[in-house]
Amino acid sequence: MATATEARPTLNRSFQTKLLINGQWRDSLSGKTFETINPATEEVIAQVAEGDAADIDLAVKAARKAFDTGPWRTMDARDRGRLLNKLADLMESQIDELAALESLDNGKPLSEARNGDLPLVVDCLRYYAGWADKIHGQTIPIRGNFFSYTRKEPVGVAGQIIPWNFPMLMVAWKWGPALAAGCTIVMKPAEQTPLSCLRMGELAMEAGFPEGVINIVPGFGPGAGSALVDHPGVDKVAFTGSTEVGKLIMRNASNTLKRVTLELGGKSPNIVFADADLEKAVDGAMLGLYLNQGQCCCAGSRLFVQESVYDEMVERLADKSSARRLGDPFDPETEQGPQVDREQFDKILGYIEKGKEQGARCVAGGERFGEKGYFIKPTVFADVKDDMAIATDEIFGPVMQVLKFREIDEVVERANTTDYGLAAAVWTRDIGKAHAIANRVRAGTVWVNCYDVFDAAAPFGGFKASGIGRELGEKALDNYIEQKTVTVSLD
Ligand code: ADP
Repeated sequence: MATATEARPTLNRSFQTKLLINGQWRDSLSGKTFETINPATEEVIAQVAEGDAADIDLAVKAARKAFDTGPWRTMDARDRGRLLNKLADLMESQIDELAALESLDNGKPLSEARNGDLPLVVDCLRYYAGWADKIHGQTIPIRGNFFSYTRKEPVGVAGQIIPWNFPMLMVAWKWGPALAAGCTIVMKPAEQTPLSCLRMGELAMEAGFPEGVINIVPGFGPGAGSALVDHPGVDKVAFTGSTEVGKLIMRNASNTLKRVTLELGGKSPNIVFADADLEKAVDGAMLGLYLNQGQCCCAGSRLFVQESVYDEMVERLADKSSARRLGDPFDPETEQGPQVDREQFDKILGYIEKGKEQGARCVAGGERFGEKGYFIKPTVFADVKDDMAIATDEIFGPVMQVLKFREIDEVVERANTTDYGLAAAVWTRDIGKAHAIANRVRAGTVWVNCYDVFDAAAPFGGFKASGIGRELGEKALDNYIEQKTVTVSLD
């Protein structure tokens, strides 16, 4: 396995910065570009072609053609799977370079990109490669002399809009099931982190995906993103991002009655009972909140701790948080990098100020780290009340809220008092209590004595305002499939 320092020189190459449309790399029709920034240094990495409605139109037409008349439609399902496997193999063979690119554009520590994100990306593509030739319908014993069966057909052109927190992983979560199902794609990566998606586009071309099957249009939400949602040639929109934008997308997609799946925000409860293995619970709380600089939709940002162990937990969390190593994402010792951009940085610092104003006790961090780059010290608030802004709003940063509870009914009710429902966790040695929480908390994923365990085979998604539909697993294929019933007279 390569170390971080070995991976850094592999970045001495030019970056792909153009739009991928119909198998061609091209400038945007307007000729406009936008900057992508290294969040650790605030320096410009590259100028990227900025797509808007006109480019989206070209990309959708290419995807439409590839779907309606191109070779994709008639390709054997198993061969689609082979292409996905080829892409996975190519990515695995360049895993260090890809991890370095992700780290550069996003700011996440290289060790996390290399040992966390990238293996999940490769695994996800392989998982869906395996599904490509296993998507089939049923025969149905209807009344009368008929032969009735169902076919599972691809939904068509999928418009996919992704965020910046796990750029390549979000590509894999979206491309995997869509391509296995036989859809074609127009993807808009996040404006903060377009480079790794474009690199994946290059590798997809190298793997041999036919022209028009995968199209990539970098750009901004109100330009390229909304044009993709509005375009009548798109059959389905898959979006990951904020709840606010998710609502807008659902509203706009209704004009053309597109299928919509949404993976949105969260304010996930992480519940620690006094009978838990506290050492593990502390580590789990740290991972659950600080992973990816706190920029996880499923971050365990409401940490409920039972009163008899509350003070001890707060002290341990404050000590461990203050000891976290921040700095250059390429340094193998670094545990926490910068937030992704100035906007997120300012927003998080605003919440920290609000927490202090509203009377929460800041026991660690509470300010920026260093003078350059969007670094924020790991921050822990104790004595947090349920109605404080830091306990209700998604902060999307390294800011932990520790709340005190007495007993199980109370904590279940408080855990569920949120518009969100993405994830939850419980720490206890009592198996009955663990299952009671798993049954009663309204969230799409519940982790017991662990946090942030992801697998390509296990569905992920939200209850309530955290989204609609599930990604990963067999379930995600449904997002890209139309079911058709065929009935044949046997008379
Ligand atoms: P975040 O706050 O995490 O940046 P957003 O929901 O704003 O999340 O962005 C997630 C993705 O949605 C990005 O690719 C962004 O460009 C895109 N986006 C933002 N606004 C819109 C919009 N109005 N229509 C379509 N896509 C959008």
